[in-house]
Amino acid sequence: MPQFEHQYFDQLPGFYTELQPTPLQGARLLYHSAPLAEELGLESSLFTVENSAYWSGEKLFPGMRPLAQVYSGHQFGQWAGQLGDGRGLLLGEQKLADGSSLDWHLKGAGLTPYSRMGDGRAVLRSVVREFLASEALHYLGVPTTRALSIVTSNEPVYREQAERGAMLVRVAPSHIRFGHFEHFYYRKQPEQVAMLADYCIEHFWPQLRDGADRYLQWFTDVVERTARLMAQWQSVGFAHGVMNTDNMSILGLTIDYGPYGFLDDYKPDFICNHTDSQGRYSFDNQPSVAYWNLHRLAQSLSGLLSTEELQQALAAYEPALMIEYGKMMRAKLGFFTENKQDNSVLTGLLSLMANEGRDYTRTFRLLSEIRRDEERSAMRDEFIDREAFDLWYQSYRQRLLLEQQDDATRQQAMKKSNPRIILRNYLAQQAIEGAEADDINRLQALHQALQDPYSDDSRFDEFAALPPDWGKHLEVSCSS
Ligand code: AMP
Ligand code: MG
Repeated sequence: MPQFEHQYFDQLPGFYTELQPTPLQGARLLYHSAPLAEELGLESSLFTVENSAYWSGEKLFPGMRPLAQVYSGHQFGQWAGQLGDGRGLLLGEQKLADGSSLDWHLKGAGLTPYSRMGDGRAVLRSVVREFLASEALHYLGVPTTRALSIVTSNEPVYREQAERGAMLVRVAPSHIRFGHFEHFYYRKQPEQVAMLADYCIEHFWPQLRDGADRYLQWFTDVVERTARLMAQWQSVGFAHGVMNTDNMSILGLTIDYGPYGFLDDYKPDFICNHTDSQGRYSFDNQPSVAYWNLHRLAQSLSGLLSTEELQQALAAYEPALMIEYGKMMRAKLGFFTENKQDNSVLTGLLSLMANEGRDYTRTFRLLSEIRRDEERSAMRDEFIDREAFDLWYQSYRQRLLLEQQDDATRQQAMKKSNPRIILRNYLAQQAIEGAEADDINRLQALHQALQDPYSDDSRFDEFAALPPDWGKHLEVSCSS
């Protein structure tokens, strides 16, 4: 049996409402992440249909004290006031063998004081989407919350149409968001802002605890983590879709998967969220939106840090972003060293891809197979404007000549930075259709493939295919 503590409950009174999950009719465990369960030391016998009650919040593990966190936020650029956990509960924090702890959060657990106009529920479609995306990003090396279990039910939940109600257990070191700080700042409760900052430092930055400039160091690290997360999203082609400040993790994790999308064709202005008509959260805008969000957080910390200190910390954003992005994109291009040309080689390739709508993942994977003595590569056939490709390819080959590594070494390294398998929308859609018919085969097979995104294993060939036409035009909105 996993053991739980309730430090958020004990140490942050006034930051939540205590309440129990509301059961879902006919709730039953549909699927779980076996590798995550193993990491958390959970026996496989817990993940049987007979034990569904643990995954639907009807039974609690020892030490759990469920609560809904309160937070606020800026949504689509506007102050939205109080939000909070409207359909999820923090169940407790699992004590791990290494002394750390991990939040267990049950999404879809029913109405809370923060549900506003919502029904407190999640639908199976969105739960499967969150499960897959967080597992996918994790195995791509991108910081994220994780997904442990999916419960389905017979209870209808109404969105554009009736769908199946479902629940997800999501785990993360913390669910604290930028919006938690904004909440108490806008309520004019500076002691609460300080308490929350102290709580974060105590639990997640203990090395800073005794320093006189601990708030500055802590906020600078939040800025840098956020910058690195953006670089990682851009490099794997992930668009979050709803980067409101209430969906920004203080730990720099990807959190709250809604209408996200992984790039198929490379479109820098890709908008994955159908309701984001202005494209505020388009793919290319993500780094600047995160910076804007950090300014909102900075304002909330103005009782803890001077304007100069806040500016100093915010100034760490761009260098952290550029360093991480440069590192990731050089690895994708097969450059082991840094060179002045690197940026123009990269932008040259990206604009070729953008002009012709080439698939982002596949193009980089093909690039991983180039031999530098080849005057022409098979990749050429992928492009309509062969002349433009040839021109770029010459500059790329010249750049590769500056590297010491032989082709085999470079190709091997590149394949570890250029995934063959990503979570394309149509793949998620197929898994959802199966899950809605109580058939988890597709979900399970896809989950397996996503655990091995860089492999050439032929068992996963079907998940490496380009999307069919219908799969490129699926519309995803906020209604999850
Ligand atoms: P999101 O855009 O999903 O991050 O949600 C923004 C806010 O709306 C959060 O406070 C959520 O808890 C809340 N929310 C979203 N969907 C629902 C729902 N079906 N019922 C109640 N609250 C919800
Ligand atoms: Mg949210």
